[in-house]
Amino acid sequence: MKFLKYSVITLLYLAIFFTSCNEEEPCTEITWYQDADGDGLGNPDISLTSCDPIDGYVDNSSDVNDSGVTPTPLSAFDEFNSSSVTISFDGDEITIVSTGIPNHTSCYWEETEDLYIEQNFGDHVTPGKIREGSYTVTVSASPELANQSSATGLGAIGIAVTGAPIYNDQERQNMPLDVETALGFDYAGGHVGPGGYHYHIEAADVAENKTLSYDDESLVGIMADGFLLYGRKEMDGSYPSDLDESGGHFGVTPHSNGEEIYHYHIVNEYYVNSYILLFGGDLKGTPNTIF
Ligand SMILES: [Zn+2]
Ligand SMILES: [Zn+2]
Repeated sequence: MKFLKYSVITLLYLAIFFTSCNEEEPCTEITWYQDADGDGLGNPDISLTSCDPIDGYVDNSSDVNDSGVTPTPLSAFDEFNSSSVTISFDGDEITIVSTGIPNHTSCYWEETEDLYIEQNFGDHVTPGKIREGSYTVTVSASPELANQSSATGLGAIGIAVTGAPIYNDQERQNMPLDVETALGFDYAGGHVGPGGYHYHIEAADVAENKTLSYDDESLVGIMADGFLLYGRKEMDGSYPSDLDESGGHFGVTPHSNGEEIYHYHIVNEYYVNSYILLFGGDLKGTPNTIF
């Protein structure tokens, strides 16, 4: 009986000893920052302190944009032809207004114009000349992927850095580009239709092509959903291998300052003959009207 009494007391002492020991165990609380977009960088504005890691939080606060929605890098807009394109920034929105007049040579200029050259890519010139038009689109400054992608229609689906509009793979309603039509393109991948001068395909690798994207990582333009369209390659010279069916993916671009943003690429595959379409997929964001 006596033995049992001592044992119980000993156990009690031991229990108290270990409990107090646990309570006094040194704990260095550190600050954890929320990482809502899962990029390993934390939001400096949302933090908790704890000794142990917390799910969804990281131990650094270097994410200036943790919402998962990244603003379109404004430096991209420096690439646009300022003679034709006016960009205005208004809080959450960016408005792009263009006369549609490109800043490169073409066989579609009036012969009296300085930028006129003879057809040096296709085999004919369709009727019509480059004329001043008007293209206006307002896009979100932080475009997001929509729940559903949207098919594009006839007419402008984006505005190129040159100022001229980007069209899809259709020349007329439900009529994809054919070889005959393509033979009328200039080296810039454009021609004149009822709506004015516009591009369908990637520019060609000719001496006259000084600025347009050809098999590189250059900015091609901005699409109606606000996402940027780049050339076929990544910054490291490789072809992206993880593009979705619209040619888009999350990654760094020459303008994104290391931040991963959703952007489109010209898809590195032939469409008709050796022509490479600028944009033949659906828009993955919410399309805005280009009017
Ligand atoms: Zn066309
Ligand atoms: Zn990319």
